[in-house]
Amino acid sequence: MSHSEDTHSHLEHPQGISAYYGELVFGPKAQKGYLSAEAIAEIHKAVNDGHTVHRDAADEIAGGMKRWALDMGATHYTHWFQPLRGTTAEKHDSFFEPTDVDSGIEVFSGKALAQQEPDASSFPSGGIRNTFEARGYTAWDPSSPAFILEKGGVRTLCIPTIFVSYTGEALDYKAPLLKTLAFVRKAATDVCQYFDTDVRDCSVSLGVEQEYFLVREDLYQARPDLMYAGRTLIGHTPAKGQQMEDHYFGSIPTKVQAFMNDFEQQAHRLGIPLRTRHNEVAPGQFECAPQFESLNLAVDHNTLLMDVMGAVATDHGLRVLLHEKPYKGINGSGKHNNWSLVTSTGVNLLSPGNSPQLNLQFLTFFINVIKAVYDHADLLRASIATAANDHRLGANEAPPAIMSVFIGDTLSKVLDDFENKIEGNNHGQQESINIPNIPEILLDNTDRNRTSPFAFTGNKFEFRAVGSSDNCSSAMVVLNTIVANQLTQFKVDVDAKINSGMPTEDAIEMVLRTILTSSKNIIFGGNGYSDEWVVEAKKRGLSNVKNTAEALQAYLAPKSVALFTENGIFSHKELEARTEIRYETYVLSLELEAKVLSEMIQTFVIPSAIKYQGRIAKGLADMKSIGIEPSLMTAQMDLLRTFSGLINSAQQLNNNLIEENEKAMANEHAKDRALVFNNVLRPLFDELRAVSDEMERLCDDADWTLPKYRELLMLS
Ligand code: ADP
Ligand code: MG
Repeated sequence: MSHSEDTHSHLEHPQGISAYYGELVFGPKAQKGYLSAEAIAEIHKAVNDGHTVHRDAADEIAGGMKRWALDMGATHYTHWFQPLRGTTAEKHDSFFEPTDVDSGIEVFSGKALAQQEPDASSFPSGGIRNTFEARGYTAWDPSSPAFILEKGGVRTLCIPTIFVSYTGEALDYKAPLLKTLAFVRKAATDVCQYFDTDVRDCSVSLGVEQEYFLVREDLYQARPDLMYAGRTLIGHTPAKGQQMEDHYFGSIPTKVQAFMNDFEQQAHRLGIPLRTRHNEVAPGQFECAPQFESLNLAVDHNTLLMDVMGAVATDHGLRVLLHEKPYKGINGSGKHNNWSLVTSTGVNLLSPGNSPQLNLQFLTFFINVIKAVYDHADLLRASIATAANDHRLGANEAPPAIMSVFIGDTLSKVLDDFENKIEGNNHGQQESINIPNIPEILLDNTDRNRTSPFAFTGNKFEFRAVGSSDNCSSAMVVLNTIVANQLTQFKVDVDAKINSGMPTEDAIEMVLRTILTSSKNIIFGGNGYSDEWVVEAKKRGLSNVKNTAEALQAYLAPKSVALFTENGIFSHKELEARTEIRYETYVLSLELEAKVLSEMIQTFVIPSAIKYQGRIAKGLADMKSIGIEPSLMTAQMDLLRTFSGLINSAQQLNNNLIEENEKAMANEHAKDRALVFNNVLRPLFDELRAVSDEMERLCDDADWTLPKYRELLMLS
């Protein structure tokens, strides 16, 4: 009796995170108090079957949502969306509608919930939507629950939406993502029928590990490069502090712990299922990871999380740096995208089973993903290409720009055996292939290869090359599409064999063997950072595209255009527009960097150097005036000469930078500007930085006004 009472009160008053988890979300719990069973069923169908919410139900849902939001203290609502530049966009409208000079009502209709027309002419459209016809609209995505965002004590109801032009082109990240999800669900479900006809649907799961740096707010404010470009454009790397590996999994600094606790609490209230936190490899670097969720929701949550982290950090006198490479010579940050497919019967299709039958199903999905990555490696590379990510990929650190797949020793052996198995060599055994049961525990232990951009980690693939500041959609749109396309092709090939009389399992095995043979070159288990791999990859015919300007071209390659248009993901026009936006974004980041760098050199670096130069010169003059013999002045003389040389170089290079920047911007097309920025400006940044960093190394600390790496990286 007392036991059951205990349990009861425990449920009524949950403790720990459960006490407030999801309290800002209009999820099943909140819906119960504000909606009829029919309306809840409509939402459920929309979430699970992609069903369109009926207009009458939308009115009721809007009414319930409004009452909930008002009870929660919100006065306004906004359609929340993810435009192609920046993180998220909001335009707030009040529920309130005046009815007289001293009275009014709070209204929210199904129509207002379902569709809005933001004045969004300034969002990038890549030319799809000229500003004079600047009409685009947002449309409700019922598969991602509405939530209440709290900023500065103000609460606003946020409704996740897609953003499209009136002519139907997607202007955001979410709209195409939803299309690819439908595509991959269907393709996977169709293939599942070979193994289990009870499978009615599949879902795609994503778990996003988010790396980030923290820096003290006051130091951040003193570094224009961090403030405007998100990374240090200059800064001498100190001897100590570079790779202090002891930071990894070390104890979390107190100040940071307080910040983490706060933003996690905010995230949990928003239903973001954060589970882990730890220090990362570099000093000042950390990571958090949620439990995986349905992909669309996981992407929304990651986007929201980035916002929440930034907002909470300033309350703690900190700034979050989501840039992929804030500091030279120190590890960069990524966003590991853990991806898998799950059937409606609850089977993870990327989890090796414990029977030959289940293993054939596993191998089918496993090998088809490998093939998809092999065929469209350049497109995957393009999907993660940004100015910031260029500093990670192909820059001798995690992960390399060469797309390859790591699968671990056990599975390499399994694939070898599978590929080499001679047809009909079953020794009279049953019709199934003779793949040994693969103990899962063994698989979980195989992967500690941190150098692979795309790794199989036991029951999921992990795309690690995604940049820390990126919206995951860009990478996930490509991954979903190439896998779905491959599964569709696979089914066509297998069906053809079945139709010509081959038993199903034989047909599956035979097609799998063919695609494995044709794509196994992408499988690589060695050190992805080594020079040998660069040579080896070239021999294997794998691309090594080191920069964004070149990588983006893959989007418009005939193979990619066919892939996207034939599967109804992007029209040719949309692809062109998106690629144009990516080039523009790249150019804008580098142009901004050029300006900030130039200004810092002119107004911080050179003045600091001249100050020190003057002091050395004065010292020398003083020494001379009191008759010190010249042989005792050689050190100062040398320093003065070196320093003066560096000042001249810095000024010269800075003049070049300004000139080349102008020349680059004079190119008419964003793509050409991008190439000049990559080929001319980036090397100039490096040269200028080298000179500046040498000055910093030699300069009197008292004269160097910018915060140094050793200060920026120290948090306790
Ligand atoms: P690590 O990669 O560091 O070993 P975990 O195994 O904890 O870490 O997984 C990292 C992320 O992968 C987490 O977000 C976790 O929820 C997610 N994850 C685990 N299993 C799956 C799965 N089947 N599909 C998608 N994501 C998954
Ligand atoms: Mg991981």
